[in-house]
Amino acid sequence: MNFLKVLFIVIFTVLFLIFVAQHAYYVKLNFLGITYEVPLFVLVLVSFAVGFLLPALYFLVKDIRQTAFTKSITRGISYLARGYPQKAEGELSKVSRRNEEIALILLKAIAERGEIYRGEEVDIKRDAGFVDAFLGLKLLRYRDYEKAKGYLLSALSKDSSNLLALKSLRNISFLEKDLEACIKHQESVLKLCEKWEKETQKRILSDILSYASESLPQQRKDLLEKALDLHRSFYSQAMWIKYMLEKEDVKEAKKQIEKAFTMGVHNQVLAILSQNEEHLTRIMDIIKEKEELINPDVLARIYIKLHLFTQLRPLMEKLSQPIKLMATAFESHREMDRSCGEMLQELYKPWVCSCGESYNNYLPMCEKCLTWGNITLRGV
Ligand SMILES: [Zn+2]
Repeated sequence: MNFLKVLFIVIFTVLFLIFVAQHAYYVKLNFLGITYEVPLFVLVLVSFAVGFLLPALYFLVKDIRQTAFTKSITRGISYLARGYPQKAEGELSKVSRRNEEIALILLKAIAERGEIYRGEEVDIKRDAGFVDAFLGLKLLRYRDYEKAKGYLLSALSKDSSNLLALKSLRNISFLEKDLEACIKHQESVLKLCEKWEKETQKRILSDILSYASESLPQQRKDLLEKALDLHRSFYSQAMWIKYMLEKEDVKEAKKQIEKAFTMGVHNQVLAILSQNEEHLTRIMDIIKEKEELINPDVLARIYIKLHLFTQLRPLMEKLSQPIKLMATAFESHREMDRSCGEMLQELYKPWVCSCGESYNNYLPMCEKCLTWGNITLRGV
């Protein structure tokens, strides 16, 4: 290796000397009216040096700045990952003025300290809408819907395909029961989302349409048909059956209930239908016929709703504790026990989300944790 180096240096020196010897004569240069005489090889070498030196200097300065920038980001992220948000903020605040992606990490550090409202004031880059979407998302978690909506709309005005902003706006519209806006946002989400979540977003749109069908009576049939076309869930199915029962098309309602039994979603469908005594009476023959297939808790609540207390006795052993208590109270002849039963019935929330929040009626979106499709029927 050393021999090769020496050989290379010798060859290079010899070639350099030949070049100098061949170009040692003087040439005339005229610059600003003054004439200079310079050996040609000096002129060539100076041109080479300047040609290399200037770009080298330019890239050196750029590299120094880039290294400082990268170090700042790395240190900031590592502080944040180790639980030092204040130190992370110190490192990232300068960089965040010219880089919106890093501004997001800075906001995360601020949010970690529970000071998201201070995040609105900091001097950071906000051109692409990432920062606005982040602030909207955080303020939504703080239940500050008005401010959140303002930031999310601003994010969308900067980038109409910001999926996170669209999803959050959809959630706010649902919470505020502005269901037409909710449908519009979810349709955009479905159009823009990636292939892997198409089915989930279809299911959510189907649930929103089913939910909206009760608040938008003029469009009820269209909404429900569209919901069923998109995704046949227990909810879209139950809402369609409910509509058929209200229209007194008992034949179609029963046909759909049979389908719910085949699909294995009959317990959820019956739980949704069990809020209306009249509806239950109309489908009582199917319920009796398929009694064995129905979850005992669901069945007991149907019998309680219809005041068929004698039907409860054979179910007693199979019931969960709260329903058993309710059934016992209703079976009693004492007035006080019965009013206790009624209170229990009001307090009992059969639908429960994976976050622990429980509800009297099924909701497509949990109002506490803001997730979709996570509310299930207790014990099913
Ligand atoms: Zn929840």
